[in-house]
Amino acid sequence: MTNDDLIRTVELTRIYGSGETAIRALDGVNLLVGSGEFLAIMGPSGCGKSTLLNMIGALDQPTSGEVWVAGENLSALRSVDEFRAQTVGFIFQLHNLLPTLTARENVEVPMQGQGIGASERKRRALELLEMVGLGQRADHLPNQLSGGQRQRVAVARALANAPLLILADEPTGSLDSQSGEEIMELLGELNRQQGTTIVVVTHDRRVAQATQRIVRMRDGRIVEDHRLLDAMEEDLRTLARSKLGHAILTDGDLPLRQITPEEEKVLRRVLERIDGAGDQAMDDSGKKVTPATGRYSK
Ligand code: ADP
Ligand code: MG
Repeated sequence: MTNDDLIRTVELTRIYGSGETAIRALDGVNLLVGSGEFLAIMGPSGCGKSTLLNMIGALDQPTSGEVWVAGENLSALRSVDEFRAQTVGFIFQLHNLLPTLTARENVEVPMQGQGIGASERKRRALELLEMVGLGQRADHLPNQLSGGQRQRVAVARALANAPLLILADEPTGSLDSQSGEEIMELLGELNRQQGTTIVVVTHDRRVAQATQRIVRMRDGRIVEDHRLLDAMEEDLRTLARSKLGHAILTDGDLPLRQITPEEEKVLRRVLERIDGAGDQAMDDSGKKVTPATGRYSK
């Protein structure tokens, strides 16, 4: 772990239950996240995404293995509450704002017990609501706000104590696509302007593509981990995972004439990497797709 690493998990394993019915929700996850990264964790339902996020946020404890965040081993924390309040901001799918508190009061909740005076809490909450574009809605109750606005309040609340790390579990899951895009833009701005490290769990590919890195999980393990650098490479990666792409790649001649030499070059590179990772790629429904580089190569 270098000084630039904010998160490190080592052979992280979480087993629910015991005996024959035991579920291996995480099965030896090794993940390294640098300070200032913005990444997405993807994978089919039940593959362990939320379990992993909860471990990183010290909401749950490993069965075995380690989680380090900001240089601290989470199993040896002096105060778990302090860690959660000061180092991490959480955003969940269902905004879970307190219904009887206004937007501003909700944003103040995490600041309580942090030795911040009432007027300073209020000032900071208003500043954060301003930042997420809700300055005019500070005194509204959650049920007077739209879903997208409530999720903005949840973002402001997650930022209350200026955390190093934001953990967001399906933050756009209950939103229409427009509001979802706006939330991702907001998170992207935070990441760029304040350097906040952000980990987003999602099964929406478009949401994931608003980040800089995609980690794919399956059956409690990481099966793919790549940085988003090149839009064409991303598109072709998606193609390589799709049924159409599979058909093209396994049934050579005809479609190949329809891609440019440049596309073909990138496609070959993608296929080499997918093969090189030693894991089977998956399509978006979670079915295994066997890369067909053998047939493809000329
Ligand atoms: P994801 O967020 O990727 O959908 P989860 O991390 O929620 O997946 O769950 C991973 C696996 O662990 C699933 O099989 C799920 O049913 C199981 N699981 C999650 N939480 C519990 C729990 N509290 N008790 C028992 N099994 C659980
Ligand atoms: Mg989940």
